[in-house]
Amino acid sequence: MDITLANGTADNCRYCLMCRHVCPVGHVTRLETLTPHGWGLTIASQRRGMAEWNEENAEVMYQCADCGTCRANCVTDQPFPDTIARVREELVGLDLAPKKVKETADRLQQWSNPYEEQEPTAATGTGDTALFVGDEAAYVGADGLAAAKRLLTAAGIDAVAVGHGRSNGYLPSSLGYTDLAAEIARANVAEITATGAKRVIVLSPGDYYAFTTLYADRLDVAWPADVEVVELVALLADDDSLSLGADDADGAYAYVDPTHSVRMPDRHEAPRSLAARVLTGEAKELFWRKERAHPVGSTALQFTDPDLANHLTWARLGDAKQVGVGILVTEDAGTLSHLSAHASRFGIEVRGLYELLADRLDA
Ligand code: SF4
Ligand code: SF4
Repeated sequence: MDITLANGTADNCRYCLMCRHVCPVGHVTRLETLTPHGWGLTIASQRRGMAEWNEENAEVMYQCADCGTCRANCVTDQPFPDTIARVREELVGLDLAPKKVKETADRLQQWSNPYEEQEPTAATGTGDTALFVGDEAAYVGADGLAAAKRLLTAAGIDAVAVGHGRSNGYLPSSLGYTDLAAEIARANVAEITATGAKRVIVLSPGDYYAFTTLYADRLDVAWPADVEVVELVALLADDDSLSLGADDADGAYAYVDPTHSVRMPDRHEAPRSLAARVLTGEAKELFWRKERAHPVGSTALQFTDPDLANHLTWARLGDAKQVGVGILVTEDAGTLSHLSAHASRFGIEVRGLYELLADRLDA
Protein backbone atom coordinates (compact mmCIF):
# COMPACT_ATOMS: atom_id res chain seq x y z
CA MET A 1 0.00 0.00 0.00
CA ASP A 2 1.20 3.45 -0.90
CA ILE A 3 2.54 5.28 2.16
CA THR A 4 0.85 8.57 1.21
CA LEU A 5 -2.52 6.82 1.07
CA ALA A 6 -1.83 5.15 4.43
CA ASN A 7 -0.88 8.44 6.10
CA GLY A 8 -3.88 10.22 4.58
CA THR A 9 -6.18 7.46 5.83
CA ALA A 10 -4.80 7.70 9.36
CA ASP A 11 -5.36 11.47 9.24
CA ASN A 12 -8.93 11.00 8.04
CA CYS A 13 -9.68 8.46 10.77
CA ARG A 14 -8.02 10.09 13.75
CA TYR A 15 -10.92 12.35 14.73
CA CYS A 16 -13.72 10.34 13.16
CA LEU A 17 -16.11 8.37 15.37
CA MET A 18 -18.39 7.08 12.62
CA CYS A 19 -17.34 3.42 12.78
CA ARG A 20 -16.19 3.33 16.38
CA HIS A 21 -19.35 1.48 17.50
CA VAL A 22 -18.80 -1.41 15.06
CA CYS A 23 -15.15 -2.15 15.83
CA PRO A 24 -15.13 -5.59 17.50
CA VAL A 25 -11.88 -5.00 19.38
CA GLY A 26 -13.16 -1.70 20.79
CA HIS A 27 -16.36 -3.55 21.64
CA VAL A 28 -14.74 -6.30 23.72
CA THR A 29 -11.93 -4.25 25.29
CA ARG A 30 -13.86 -0.99 25.86
CA LEU A 31 -10.55 0.82 25.40
CA GLU A 32 -10.61 4.02 23.33
CA THR A 33 -7.03 3.39 22.18
CA LEU A 34 -8.25 0.18 20.55
CA THR A 35 -10.80 1.73 18.20
CA PRO A 36 -10.28 2.96 14.62
CA HIS A 37 -9.88 6.59 15.66
CA GLY A 38 -7.64 5.54 18.58
CA TRP A 39 -5.28 3.68 16.26
CA GLY A 40 -5.56 6.56 13.77
CA LEU A 41 -4.45 9.01 16.45
CA THR A 42 -1.51 6.81 17.43
CA ILE A 43 -0.32 6.69 13.80
CA ALA A 44 -0.93 10.42 13.20
CA SER A 45 0.93 11.31 16.41
CA GLN A 46 3.98 9.36 15.30
CA ARG A 47 3.81 10.98 11.87
CA ARG A 48 3.80 14.44 13.46
CA GLY A 49 6.79 13.68 15.68
CA MET A 50 4.66 13.69 18.84
CA ALA A 51 5.49 10.06 19.57
CA GLU A 52 8.08 7.53 18.50
CA TRP A 53 7.46 3.91 17.74
CA ASN A 54 8.47 1.75 20.66
CA GLU A 55 7.61 -1.72 21.99
CA GLU A 56 4.56 -0.44 23.84
CA ASN A 57 2.81 1.37 20.98
CA ALA A 58 3.91 -1.38 18.56
CA GLU A 59 1.97 -3.82 20.76
CA VAL A 60 -1.07 -1.53 20.47
CA MET A 61 -0.77 -1.47 16.67
CA TYR A 62 -0.90 -5.27 16.64
CA GLN A 63 -4.18 -5.40 18.59
CA CYS A 64 -6.36 -4.42 15.62
CA ALA A 65 -8.02 -7.58 14.27
CA ASP A 66 -7.63 -6.49 10.61
CA CYS A 67 -11.21 -7.63 10.20
CA GLY A 68 -12.52 -5.00 7.77
CA THR A 69 -15.61 -4.03 9.80
CA CYS A 70 -14.58 -0.36 9.99
CA ARG A 71 -14.13 -0.04 6.25
CA ALA A 72 -17.38 -1.89 5.55
CA ASN A 73 -19.16 0.78 7.62
CA CYS A 74 -17.23 3.80 6.32
CA VAL A 75 -19.18 6.10 4.01
CA THR A 76 -15.92 7.31 2.43
CA ASP A 77 -14.47 3.78 2.11
CA GLN A 78 -11.24 4.55 3.95
CA PRO A 79 -8.78 1.63 3.66
CA PHE A 80 -8.05 1.68 7.37
CA PRO A 81 -7.23 -2.05 7.79
CA ASP A 82 -4.73 -1.74 4.91
CA THR A 83 -3.23 1.24 6.72
CA ILE A 84 -2.78 -0.84 9.87
CA ALA A 85 -1.00 -3.53 7.83
CA ARG A 86 1.20 -0.86 6.20
CA VAL A 87 2.22 0.56 9.58
CA ARG A 88 2.99 -2.94 10.84
CA GLU A 89 5.27 -3.37 7.83
CA GLU A 90 7.15 -0.33 9.10
CA LEU A 91 7.33 -1.79 12.62
CA VAL A 92 8.73 -5.05 11.22
CA GLY A 93 11.40 -2.98 9.45
CA LEU A 94 12.25 -1.27 12.75
CA ASP A 95 12.47 -4.67 14.48
CA LEU A 96 9.63 -3.64 16.78
CA ALA A 97 7.19 -6.42 15.92
CA PRO A 98 6.21 -8.28 19.14
CA LYS A 99 7.85 -11.65 19.81
CA LYS A 100 4.75 -13.70 18.97
CA VAL A 101 4.41 -11.87 15.65
CA LYS A 102 7.98 -12.77 14.74
CA GLU A 103 7.46 -16.39 15.79
CA THR A 104 4.33 -16.65 13.63
CA ALA A 105 6.13 -15.07 10.69
CA ASP A 106 9.01 -17.54 11.15
CA ARG A 107 6.59 -20.46 10.86
CA LEU A 108 5.01 -18.92 7.77
CA GLN A 109 8.43 -18.36 6.26
CA GLN A 110 9.44 -21.96 6.80
CA TRP A 111 6.20 -23.85 6.22
CA SER A 112 3.86 -21.38 4.42
CA ASN A 113 1.36 -21.95 7.23
CA PRO A 114 1.32 -21.29 10.99
CA TYR A 115 -0.29 -24.59 12.04
CA GLU A 116 1.89 -27.55 11.07
CA GLU A 117 5.57 -28.09 10.34
CA GLN A 118 4.75 -29.36 6.90
CA GLU A 119 5.29 -28.05 3.39
CA PRO A 120 2.19 -27.46 1.23
CA THR A 121 1.17 -30.47 -0.85
CA ALA A 122 1.85 -29.81 -4.51
CA ALA A 123 -1.16 -29.90 -6.83
CA THR A 124 -1.31 -32.78 -9.27
CA GLY A 125 -3.29 -32.72 -12.45
CA THR A 126 -4.98 -30.13 -14.58
CA GLY A 127 -8.56 -29.10 -15.17
CA ASP A 128 -11.01 -26.27 -15.74
CA THR A 129 -11.76 -25.91 -12.05
CA ALA A 130 -9.50 -25.78 -9.00
CA LEU A 131 -10.43 -26.00 -5.32
CA PHE A 132 -8.25 -23.81 -3.11
CA VAL A 133 -7.77 -25.67 0.16
CA GLY A 134 -5.40 -23.34 1.98
CA ASP A 135 -4.06 -23.94 5.47
CA GLU A 136 -7.16 -23.55 7.66
CA ALA A 137 -9.21 -26.20 5.85
CA ALA A 138 -6.16 -28.48 5.62
CA TYR A 139 -5.12 -28.28 9.27
CA VAL A 140 -8.14 -27.24 11.35
CA GLY A 141 -11.05 -28.15 9.08
CA ALA A 142 -10.48 -31.65 7.72
CA ASP A 143 -14.14 -32.71 8.20
CA GLY A 144 -15.41 -29.62 6.40
CA LEU A 145 -12.94 -30.16 3.57
CA ALA A 146 -14.05 -33.78 3.13
CA ALA A 147 -17.69 -32.64 3.14
CA ALA A 148 -16.95 -29.89 0.61
CA LYS A 149 -15.39 -32.48 -1.71
CA ARG A 150 -18.47 -34.72 -1.39
CA LEU A 151 -20.67 -31.73 -2.26
CA LEU A 152 -18.57 -30.94 -5.32
CA THR A 153 -18.86 -34.53 -6.48
CA ALA A 154 -22.64 -34.41 -5.97
CA ALA A 155 -22.75 -31.21 -8.00
CA GLY A 156 -20.82 -32.94 -10.80
CA ILE A 157 -17.72 -30.75 -10.39
CA ASP A 158 -14.28 -32.27 -10.75
CA ALA A 159 -11.87 -29.85 -9.10
CA VAL A 160 -8.07 -30.03 -8.79
CA ALA A 161 -6.99 -29.33 -5.20
CA VAL A 162 -4.51 -26.45 -4.99
CA GLY A 163 -2.80 -24.59 -2.16
CA HIS A 164 -3.25 -27.54 0.22
CA GLY A 165 -1.50 -26.44 3.40
CA ARG A 166 -0.50 -22.99 2.14
CA SER A 167 -1.74 -19.71 3.62
CA ASN A 168 -3.84 -17.55 1.31
CA GLY A 169 -1.42 -14.73 2.15
CA TYR A 170 -3.71 -12.77 4.44
CA LEU A 171 -1.93 -13.74 7.68
CA PRO A 172 1.61 -12.62 6.71
CA SER A 173 0.12 -9.45 5.22
CA SER A 174 -1.80 -8.74 8.39
CA LEU A 175 1.36 -9.25 10.45
CA GLY A 176 3.20 -6.66 8.35
CA TYR A 177 5.38 -9.17 6.49
CA THR A 178 4.44 -7.89 3.06
CA ASP A 179 7.31 -9.48 1.11
CA LEU A 180 6.56 -12.87 2.61
CA ALA A 181 2.84 -12.43 1.90
CA ALA A 182 3.61 -11.56 -1.72
CA GLU A 183 5.86 -14.61 -2.03
CA ILE A 184 3.10 -16.88 -0.72
CA ALA A 185 0.52 -15.16 -2.95
CA ARG A 186 2.71 -15.69 -6.00
CA ALA A 187 3.10 -19.38 -5.10
CA ASN A 188 -0.69 -19.73 -4.96
CA VAL A 189 -1.14 -17.95 -8.30
CA ALA A 190 1.60 -20.07 -9.94
CA GLU A 191 0.05 -23.31 -8.71
CA ILE A 192 -3.40 -22.29 -9.92
CA THR A 193 -2.05 -21.16 -13.29
CA ALA A 194 -0.19 -24.47 -13.73
CA THR A 195 -3.46 -26.42 -13.43
CA GLY A 196 -4.94 -24.46 -16.33
CA ALA A 197 -8.05 -23.75 -14.24
CA LYS A 198 -10.31 -20.88 -15.26
CA ARG A 199 -12.36 -21.09 -12.10
CA VAL A 200 -11.13 -21.34 -8.51
CA ILE A 201 -13.60 -22.45 -5.86
CA VAL A 202 -12.85 -21.17 -2.37
CA LEU A 203 -14.21 -22.43 0.94
CA SER A 204 -14.28 -19.19 2.90
CA PRO A 205 -14.83 -15.45 2.49
CA GLY A 206 -11.26 -14.98 3.75
CA ASP A 207 -9.88 -16.80 0.70
CA TYR A 208 -12.20 -14.87 -1.62
CA TYR A 209 -11.10 -11.56 -0.11
CA ALA A 210 -7.41 -12.50 -0.35
CA PHE A 211 -7.58 -13.43 -4.03
CA THR A 212 -9.94 -10.74 -5.28
CA THR A 213 -8.83 -7.78 -3.20
CA LEU A 214 -5.86 -8.15 -0.87
CA TYR A 215 -3.39 -9.37 -3.52
CA ALA A 216 -3.95 -6.20 -5.56
CA ASP A 217 -4.49 -3.68 -2.76
CA ARG A 218 -1.70 -4.72 -0.41
CA LEU A 219 0.73 -6.99 -2.23
CA ASP A 220 0.85 -5.78 -5.82
CA VAL A 221 0.36 -9.38 -6.94
CA ALA A 222 -1.75 -9.74 -10.08
CA TRP A 223 -4.52 -12.32 -10.05
CA PRO A 224 -4.88 -13.89 -13.52
CA ALA A 225 -7.57 -11.89 -15.33
CA ASP A 226 -9.14 -14.97 -16.94
CA VAL A 227 -9.55 -16.91 -13.68
CA GLU A 228 -12.85 -16.49 -11.85
CA VAL A 229 -13.03 -16.87 -8.07
CA VAL A 230 -16.24 -18.27 -6.63
CA GLU A 231 -17.24 -19.25 -3.12
CA LEU A 232 -18.52 -22.81 -2.73
CA VAL A 233 -21.62 -21.55 -0.89
CA ALA A 234 -22.53 -19.27 -3.82
CA LEU A 235 -22.07 -22.13 -6.26
CA LEU A 236 -24.18 -24.55 -4.21
CA ALA A 237 -26.92 -22.00 -3.53
CA ASP A 238 -27.33 -21.53 -7.29
CA ASP A 239 -27.48 -25.27 -7.95
CA ASP A 240 -31.15 -26.30 -7.99
CA SER A 241 -30.26 -29.86 -8.94
CA LEU A 242 -28.68 -30.59 -5.56
CA SER A 243 -31.13 -32.74 -3.64
CA LEU A 244 -30.94 -32.15 0.11
CA GLY A 245 -33.09 -33.65 2.84
CA ALA A 246 -34.05 -31.63 5.94
CA ASP A 247 -33.94 -32.83 9.54
CA ASP A 248 -37.14 -32.29 11.55
CA ALA A 249 -35.38 -32.41 14.89
CA ASP A 250 -33.52 -29.11 14.69
CA GLY A 251 -34.14 -26.26 17.13
CA ALA A 252 -33.66 -22.53 16.60
CA TYR A 253 -30.32 -21.73 15.01
CA ALA A 254 -28.32 -18.76 13.76
CA TYR A 255 -25.85 -18.53 10.93
CA VAL A 256 -22.50 -16.98 11.92
CA ASP A 257 -21.01 -14.84 9.16
CA PRO A 258 -17.40 -16.07 9.03
CA THR A 259 -14.42 -13.83 9.64
CA HIS A 260 -13.95 -11.42 6.67
CA SER A 261 -17.60 -11.70 5.55
CA VAL A 262 -18.01 -7.94 5.98
CA ARG A 263 -15.53 -7.51 3.15
CA MET A 264 -18.02 -9.14 0.75
CA PRO A 265 -21.39 -7.38 1.00
CA ASP A 266 -23.02 -9.62 -1.64
CA ARG A 267 -22.31 -12.98 -0.03
CA HIS A 268 -24.69 -12.95 2.94
CA GLU A 269 -27.79 -14.69 1.54
CA ALA A 270 -26.20 -17.76 -0.09
CA PRO A 271 -25.09 -19.58 3.10
CA ARG A 272 -28.33 -18.67 4.87
CA SER A 273 -30.43 -20.12 2.06
CA LEU A 274 -28.38 -23.33 2.14
CA ALA A 275 -28.76 -23.66 5.92
CA ALA A 276 -32.52 -23.17 5.56
CA ARG A 277 -32.67 -26.06 3.09
CA VAL A 278 -31.37 -28.57 5.63
CA LEU A 279 -32.42 -27.14 9.00
CA THR A 280 -36.11 -26.97 9.82
CA GLY A 281 -35.74 -25.02 13.08
CA GLU A 282 -36.38 -21.28 13.30
CA ALA A 283 -33.58 -19.23 11.71
CA LYS A 284 -32.63 -16.31 13.94
CA GLU A 285 -30.03 -13.61 13.37
CA LEU A 286 -27.17 -12.58 15.61
CA PHE A 287 -26.98 -8.88 16.41
CA TRP A 288 -23.49 -8.61 14.83
CA ARG A 289 -24.27 -9.97 11.39
CA LYS A 290 -23.89 -9.35 7.67
CA GLU A 291 -22.47 -5.87 7.00
CA ARG A 292 -21.64 -5.43 10.69
CA ALA A 293 -20.54 -9.02 11.37
CA HIS A 294 -17.84 -9.35 13.97
CA PRO A 295 -15.09 -11.93 13.54
CA VAL A 296 -14.27 -14.70 15.98
CA GLY A 297 -10.66 -15.00 17.08
CA SER A 298 -9.50 -16.51 13.79
CA THR A 299 -7.46 -13.55 12.60
CA ALA A 300 -3.75 -13.02 13.31
CA LEU A 301 -4.79 -12.33 16.91
CA GLN A 302 -5.13 -16.08 17.55
CA PHE A 303 -1.33 -16.29 17.31
CA THR A 304 -0.27 -12.86 18.55
CA ASP A 305 -2.83 -12.14 21.31
CA PRO A 306 -4.79 -15.33 22.08
CA ASP A 307 -6.58 -13.76 25.04
CA LEU A 308 -8.02 -10.98 22.88
CA ALA A 309 -8.84 -13.54 20.17
CA ASN A 310 -10.76 -15.61 22.73
CA HIS A 311 -12.76 -12.56 23.81
CA LEU A 312 -13.85 -12.04 20.20
CA THR A 313 -15.03 -15.66 20.02
CA TRP A 314 -16.80 -15.46 23.40
CA ALA A 315 -18.60 -12.32 22.18
CA ARG A 316 -20.01 -14.27 19.21
CA LEU A 317 -21.18 -17.07 21.51
CA GLY A 318 -22.63 -14.48 23.90
CA ASP A 319 -24.48 -12.92 20.95
CA ALA A 320 -26.03 -16.36 20.26
CA LYS A 321 -27.13 -16.72 23.90
CA GLN A 322 -28.67 -13.28 23.76
CA VAL A 323 -30.84 -14.07 20.72
CA GLY A 324 -31.84 -17.41 22.23
CA VAL A 325 -30.37 -19.99 19.87
CA GLY A 326 -28.77 -23.29 20.86
CA ILE A 327 -27.24 -24.02 17.46
CA LEU A 328 -24.73 -21.99 15.47
CA VAL A 329 -23.91 -22.83 11.88
CA THR A 330 -21.04 -21.65 9.74
CA GLU A 331 -18.71 -23.06 7.09
CA ASP A 332 -15.29 -21.43 7.32
CA ALA A 333 -12.77 -23.73 9.01
CA GLY A 334 -11.17 -21.03 11.16
CA THR A 335 -14.46 -19.64 12.41
CA LEU A 336 -15.78 -23.13 13.09
CA SER A 337 -12.73 -24.23 15.04
CA HIS A 338 -12.74 -21.15 17.27
CA LEU A 339 -16.48 -21.35 17.98
CA SER A 340 -16.26 -25.09 18.61
CA ALA A 341 -13.37 -24.69 21.06
CA HIS A 342 -15.50 -22.59 23.43
CA ALA A 343 -19.13 -23.46 22.60
CA SER A 344 -19.72 -25.97 25.42
CA ARG A 345 -19.11 -23.26 28.05
CA PHE A 346 -22.08 -21.42 26.57
CA GLY A 347 -24.27 -24.51 26.16
CA ILE A 348 -24.24 -24.05 22.38
CA GLU A 349 -23.85 -26.62 19.65
CA VAL A 350 -21.75 -25.61 16.64
CA ARG A 351 -22.32 -27.25 13.27
CA GLY A 352 -20.35 -27.05 10.06
CA LEU A 353 -22.49 -26.02 7.10
CA TYR A 354 -20.57 -28.17 4.61
CA GLU A 355 -20.90 -31.23 6.87
CA LEU A 356 -24.63 -30.56 7.38
CA LEU A 357 -25.20 -30.28 3.64
CA ALA A 358 -23.08 -33.31 2.75
CA ASP A 359 -24.77 -35.46 5.40
CA ARG A 360 -28.16 -34.58 3.97
CA LEU A 361 -27.41 -35.23 0.34
CA ASP A 362 -30.20 -37.48 -0.87
CA ALA A 363 -28.81 -40.80 -1.98
S1 SF4 B 1 -12.74 4.07 8.58
FE1 SF4 B 1 -14.16 5.72 7.93
S2 SF4 B 1 -15.75 5.73 9.52
FE2 SF4 B 1 -13.97 4.63 10.36
S3 SF4 B 1 -12.74 6.16 11.45
FE3 SF4 B 1 -11.94 6.03 9.35
S4 SF4 B 1 -13.04 7.65 8.22
FE4 SF4 B 1 -14.19 7.25 10.10
S1 SF4 C 1 -10.00 -3.68 11.15
FE1 SF4 C 1 -11.50 -4.40 12.67
S2 SF4 C 1 -10.43 -4.33 14.66
FE2 SF4 C 1 -9.25 -3.07 13.20
S3 SF4 C 1 -10.02 -0.97 13.48
FE3 SF4 C 1 -11.20 -1.90 11.81
S4 SF4 C 1 -13.02 -2.74 12.81
FE4 SF4 C 1 -11.51 -2.37 14.42
